[in-house]
Amino acid sequence: MGVEKVPKYNIPIKKVEYVYIELDKMKPHEQLVQKELEAFIESVTGSGVFWKPMLLAKVPGEDMYLIVDGHHRWAGLMKLGAKKAPSVILDYFSDDVKVYTWYPAFKGDLDKVLERLKKEGVEVIEDSNAEELAEKGEIAFALVGKDKAFKIPGALKEQKLVSKVLDEMSVKGEIELIYYGLKEDAKADMDVGEIDYVFIRKAPSKEEVMELVKRGDVYSPKTTRHVLPFIPDKIDVKLEDLF
Ligand code: ADP
Repeated sequence: MGVEKVPKYNIPIKKVEYVYIELDKMKPHEQLVQKELEAFIESVTGSGVFWKPMLLAKVPGEDMYLIVDGHHRWAGLMKLGAKKAPSVILDYFSDDVKVYTWYPAFKGDLDKVLERLKKEGVEVIEDSNAEELAEKGEIAFALVGKDKAFKIPGALKEQKLVSKVLDEMSVKGEIELIYYGLKEDAKADMDVGEIDYVFIRKAPSKEEVMELVKRGDVYSPKTTRHVLPFIPDKIDVKLEDLF
């Protein structure tokens, strides 16, 4: 998994009420990253304490909850055989909850990346309007460099393939993978040579996220970046109490 460059927000930490929700009533909206899953399991079994509540939102018309934040906590607890998790239920469609995306960027050899994408059957076409098309949601991604831009036609399937290729290449050390919360930050880093290319896509809307989970599909890892008006304060729940 690559490094994250999180935008600097001043979000206050707030003590919030949590409730226990059954793990089998939670629905993920993103694919998992094995490394993160292992890190969580190691942490929670090591300390025996679960300190970060899940952030959930009610799925309209279903007795289910969308996992807004906590995919790896959810999958990790399931793997350990736990039954429930302390959760904060959000008013998801309130204007207080924002959804953005992460922009994967890399430092490394473009040709190698293009070659791997081609092998996966992902089409990459040079196009100076690529970024505009991506922002309109008409293509899977724009791949933008300092003086070259490409479009990657398609949608969810192509985004998953791009994500897989980047993850694999990063694990093998063939590229340095960085996820940016803001594309402006990625472009600024590109100007000073810290990264070579950034993948740009349109952030999904909350409605799109809900539709996706309703049909049982998931996005690639790090597709959504949810921002809340508060960060829930740490809680102190024993892991054994979740069984
Ligand atoms: P995602 O961000 O993909 O939705 P998570 O938020 O579940 O997935 O990612 C794992 C999270 O687990 C990390 O944010 C990490 O801070 C948190 N974590 C690590 N150890 C513990 C623990 N003992 N109890 C609760 N949360 C933990």
